[in-house]
Amino acid sequence: MALTLFARRPEPVEAPAPAPWPEIGETWKPEGATVVQRYYNQAHAVVLVYTAAENYRHVVACLGCHFTKANSAARSCGWLDLKGAADIANGHATTCRALPRDIPSRPDDDAVRDQLRQWVVGQRRHQSEDTELWISFLDPVRPTLQRTNIWIETALRQLADTQPDIVVAKTSEYTEVTRFYARSYPEI
Ligand SMILES: [Zn+2]
Repeated sequence: MALTLFARRPEPVEAPAPAPWPEIGETWKPEGATVVQRYYNQAHAVVLVYTAAENYRHVVACLGCHFTKANSAARSCGWLDLKGAADIANGHATTCRALPRDIPSRPDDDAVRDQLRQWVVGQRRHQSEDTELWISFLDPVRPTLQRTNIWIETALRQLADTQPDIVVAKTSEYTEVTRFYARSYPEI
């Protein structure tokens, strides 16, 4: 019976090709970020509200003028909720007159690995403790990184293997969660 049902499954249909800019502002789905709202600025550039964290952290990004906002001083967690992000996006859209830019192209893997390496190096501090690296720090650049959390974690793990002098990965034997730390410089 199961085999019969399986055999009757329709052939998979290829996804339609994405429409070109400016329509792409309506349909663009950057890898690793979920676009939840769109606003148009005064020159019809798209202002995105997206989440890279299953809707509990939100980011506003203007595809006209590079405006980005990922944090909220009003909330103790420091992240924007959807309403806060929507208010900021709407406010920005009513004042921004920047023309639409092209959608950021998807960088190749080496370029993203290099960007992550630079980010890690930038997190290193002259202190006794190593600095924990939080994926949430990357929220504002997810539309340019265009990679999933898993991809980023894998890249960080590889970097920890090849350059243990700059980043270390520690996996809890109880939870199997891996945390990443930028190695500290000697204290001065
Ligand atoms: Zn703008």
